Amino acid sequence: SPSTDRGTVEQFLRAVPDFPEPGIRFWDLTPVLADAEGLAATTRLLSEPVADAAVDVVVGIEARGFLLGAAVAQALGLGIVPVRKQGKLPAVAASRSYDLEYGSATLELPAGVLAAGTRALLVDDVLATGGTAAAASELVESCGAHVAALSVVLELPALSGRARLGDRPLHAVLER
Ligand code: AMP
Repeated sequence: SPSTDRGTVEQFLRAVPDFPEPGIRFWDLTPVLADAEGLAATTRLLSEPVADAAVDVVVGIEARGFLLGAAVAQALGLGIVPVRKQGKLPAVAASRSYDLEYGSATLELPAGVLAAGTRALLVDDVLATGGTAAAASELVESCGAHVAALSVVLELPALSGRARLGDRPLHAVLER
């Protein structure tokens, strides 16, 4: 059941203080994904709420969104498209820069794989400020595709990331 699955995820979830810098509590899913039942439970919890959302393709956000997104794509019988950090893709359809706490980052969407009208499910591990998810959503939409929903394992509500997503549907497995 979903509540059993959430218990499994919580059992393996690890909070690392002061990483990558002092004052940040880093939520590390590595032990969850390393466990067979942890990965299975996480995959179910990310995919089942969107089973009725008429999703055509999964978009995984670098890097932990690749691990989770591929599992979700398999569970839903779909393919996966990576949104990557700048400079990794040989052919780019669109790129988007956004502000981080310190400095900025640029994400890129590969060329030739996301047709206009496609309904995408965006997958990542953690929604913090929402800057990453918002930029990835705008990339998808710049191709004329739609964000059917976003699924994340952890939402950090204190950082108000959900507000950055407008009315795009967000499913979070857990809040911390
Ligand atoms: P943001 O753009 O602020 O929503 O940050 C989201 C991205 O940074 C996600 O891809 C996360 O993997 C990562 N991230 C941000 N804050 C944390 C955190 N406290 N623990 C783990 N990952 C985080």
